[in-house]
Amino acid sequence: CGIIGYIGEKDGLPILLEGLKRLEYRGYDSAGIATINHHGRIDVVRCRGKLKSLEERLVSMPLTGTVGIGHTRWATHGKPSDENAHPHRSGPFVVVHNGIVENFAVLRDRLTDEGFRFDSETDTEVIVKLLESERRKGKSYREAVLDTLRQLRGSYAVVFLNEEEPETLVAARKESPLILGLGEDGTYVASDVPAILSHTRRVVFLDDEDVVFIDRSGFRVEDLHGHVKEVHAKTIDWNPVM
Ligand code: GLU
Repeated sequence: CGIIGYIGEKDGLPILLEGLKRLEYRGYDSAGIATINHHGRIDVVRCRGKLKSLEERLVSMPLTGTVGIGHTRWATHGKPSDENAHPHRSGPFVVVHNGIVENFAVLRDRLTDEGFRFDSETDTEVIVKLLESERRKGKSYREAVLDTLRQLRGSYAVVFLNEEEPETLVAARKESPLILGLGEDGTYVASDVPAILSHTRRVVFLDDEDVVFIDRSGFRVEDLHGHVKEVHAKTIDWNPVM
């Protein structure tokens, strides 16, 4: 299970694929990628199986764009299948998630009562449906993200894309690893340092309950209550064993 995200000047797809390959050692049963295309719409390619299967699908549906996210899934809720592979979508949002939403059944019942329909068996899909539900109440994207995350029990590393704000990446973590990489050509998020080390050595190790809002000009870290946090980048001076 692994996560990679990128927003910057470069074409996203090769960066996302390389990142996922460098996270393969963590184990997975499915994989997927989403990017924001030149019309500001999100395209998703995902499937059960190895990254090779994903790459084969990408031949007939190449993803373009300079903002995107990638995921390798180790199924906890719902069998390994194309439908259960991440990213998961709801309205203008998609999410990738590592971890377990312990209260997903309660949240799913509530969202079902609100009229949401679920396309997968995963706990993850409640996160993105909940985000759309909160956004529909008239909250800003930022407020909707914070209100969503505060309702989750369990563990998560998540990254969101939003067609309403296509030049942004929003990520957060709780009891699941996630780091921020600060490059010359863009900003990265990843489960682990080796995923981004060929692009940058400047890394921020995010804490539990950190939420990071990233755009093309920089990033801001907040806690779950929206208080801005000061963070410090470290320079990685070691090389991964490959
Ligand atoms: N619980 C989620 C699922 O089963 C995420 C699993 C993971 O960490 O890859 O889809």
